[in-house]
Amino acid sequence: MNILTQDIKYLQGVGPNRATLLANELGIQTVGDLLAYYPYKYVDRSRIYKICDINGNMPYVQLCGQIASFESIGEGRGKRLIAHFSDGTGFIDLVWFQGIKYVAKNYDCRKSYIVFGKPTVFNGKIQIAHPEIENAPEHLKPQARTTGNLFEEQPSNPNLQEAELEAQPTVFKGLCPSYNTSEKMKKGGLTSASMAKLTANMFKLIKEPLQETLPPYIVTQHRLMSYDDAVRNIHYPSSPDALRHAQLRLKFEELFYVQLNILRYVKDRQLRYKGIVFDTIGKQFNNFFFKHLPFELTGAQKRVIKEIRADMKSGRQMNRLLQGDVGSGKTLVALMVALIAIDNGCQACIMAPTEILAEQHLETLRKFLSDMPVRVELLTGAVKGKRRTEVFEGLVTGDIHILVGTHAVIEDNVLFHKLGLVVIDEQHRFGVAQRAKLWMKNSVPPHVLVMTATPIPRTLAMTLYGDLDVSVIDELPPGRKPIRTIHMFDAHRLRIYELMHRELQLGRQIYIVYPLIKETEKMDLKDLEAGFEEISKAFPAYKVSKVHGKMKAADKDSEMQRFANHETHILVSTTVIEVGVNVPNASVMIIENAERFGLSQLHQLRGRVGRGADQSYCVLVTKYELSNTTRKRIQVMVDTTDGFEIAEQDLKLRGPGDLEGTQQSGMAFDLKIANLAQDGQILTLARDTAQAVITSDPEERNQQNNILWIRLRQLRKSNINWGAIS
Ligand code: ADP
Ligand code: MG
Repeated sequence: MNILTQDIKYLQGVGPNRATLLANELGIQTVGDLLAYYPYKYVDRSRIYKICDINGNMPYVQLCGQIASFESIGEGRGKRLIAHFSDGTGFIDLVWFQGIKYVAKNYDCRKSYIVFGKPTVFNGKIQIAHPEIENAPEHLKPQARTTGNLFEEQPSNPNLQEAELEAQPTVFKGLCPSYNTSEKMKKGGLTSASMAKLTANMFKLIKEPLQETLPPYIVTQHRLMSYDDAVRNIHYPSSPDALRHAQLRLKFEELFYVQLNILRYVKDRQLRYKGIVFDTIGKQFNNFFFKHLPFELTGAQKRVIKEIRADMKSGRQMNRLLQGDVGSGKTLVALMVALIAIDNGCQACIMAPTEILAEQHLETLRKFLSDMPVRVELLTGAVKGKRRTEVFEGLVTGDIHILVGTHAVIEDNVLFHKLGLVVIDEQHRFGVAQRAKLWMKNSVPPHVLVMTATPIPRTLAMTLYGDLDVSVIDELPPGRKPIRTIHMFDAHRLRIYELMHRELQLGRQIYIVYPLIKETEKMDLKDLEAGFEEISKAFPAYKVSKVHGKMKAADKDSEMQRFANHETHILVSTTVIEVGVNVPNASVMIIENAERFGLSQLHQLRGRVGRGADQSYCVLVTKYELSNTTRKRIQVMVDTTDGFEIAEQDLKLRGPGDLEGTQQSGMAFDLKIANLAQDGQILTLARDTAQAVITSDPEERNQQNNILWIRLRQLRKSNINWGAIS
């Protein structure tokens, strides 16, 4: 029987209770699952430090000594237990805030312990909070000493003791694994240390070398460590070098299968679906281009329109991602491409993430198309009754050429005469699986263009949108001045008011944005209300409007409209305006509590100004005390307006899991070991290798690759997201 499929319950040290914990908390049910539960870090336990050598800047250290006495301090929530610990060279405090009873019951004075943890300084004293602690092995115990001697500040013969300690071999060798565990696990006695015991027991069982999970030719080609070596070394590295090789091997493998999955899906999609051929550029497009277009297209706009056009006449279904910073003119590109669809007897549909944005798109398109015989209609949840029926009818007869709306447009009951193109604007959640729903909208699936102003770092795009071709608008329309970004503290409010006065006098308008976090919505609203009052008082000569998510949609819209019509001068709001408005006359964006926003969100907000030809400003207001990372984030905003640069920095500072829009992307994103922020090179190698497999063995006849397809099927089965896209 395969050891890896064996129930984890029967592994030495597990048993029924822990098996339940492992299953519930980590999804570990078999030995194989435990094998794939990698440590999140390693600590060097080859060395035992002397307390007199310890300072608060050291990383994790290991000590050997005895507890002189316990002391209980404080009451209620502030209660803590301190153990005064000594090895004869000095004292250090071990501190517990939780599990106090357990510690007091299980550890005794005068017994020898190995203590392991991170020293910190508190009130001028060095302490280790919540150390790992276990009985010292025999050979390390200070022998034939009375406790009295041992705990004197100056041991009777300190040199002797040092010599003893250093001469002895230590129990713990090399790099020891640390495993993530949950609170529940810790309560059930499953700490990182006990997990390490379990993995050690596991390797006692796994005697035979584990089967390779990549074809040997790929292993050799990239000089990878074998799978067997890699998993053994990832848990118990034989050396730092071996650990690096093990990590490389496992990261490569993980990314390779993600890419193989995506690229094979792309291949299948291409085989299965033909694309509608748009071979003419006709009346509408030319009419618009020569007679209605109010300005020159930028070079970048021309280039991406050509790229899209090439896709749409190729006979393959287009699946393209259009990246372009805020204000780079993506809407116009969408419109012109839609006109090509119309010229070829098809309808187009443009999807926006919110009703407000959909309405704005509708308005923009109608303005661009005024006097042209192109019918544009709106479909959102707000379109009801007779209007809705009319839209449904117009779509079936083909009278409606362009439908603009929210995701309501792809519901099953929305039927088209002939849908040739779908443009998806700013929808990160619209992953591969959701896009696949569109294929059913027409006998031949429509071409798909995904547009985003959230610049996605290359590594992320290759994973999140790995099945899409990419076009980039890397140029803003001419005449725009870069926005000046200023970081100010709360205390500088008067200087902020000065700037506001100056701009208002020039006839410009101002946004003030407050963060909104769901859990504390009430409090945030209070901030916003207070800000609104304050601003109204400070600027009596000007009209101030207020918009937030708790308002009725109609009220919200009318307030927005008033601001857009320049009937009000200052708009105080929550982030509802993030994607919702385009007011070229607004020149100042003030973001309150800027420390609470993510970088790409700040970038989006900032993009609301700088839409006209005049100098615009973005003021990031924060409290004075900022964490290092936050200060760096704010600095990135001050230093650059380049969205890609910001996205790269965001990825570096926060890691991909936190990056906006990645969590619900609908794409496999559950990486165990690879880190998209750091492993870009490995990712590129993995993608190239996966592409080479698909290109060189399209029929999957190469015996050597069998192992790949078997493994891919397994992975698709065990990962819902992976399966969903095929
Ligand atoms: P985004 O890429 O953020 O969706 P928009 O499509 O909203 O940008 O365009 C921002 C503004 O720039 C709009 O007012 C649009 O009319 C204008 N615009 C787009 N293309 C050009 C161009 N080539 N020249 C001048 N203005 C342009
Ligand atoms: Mg846009």
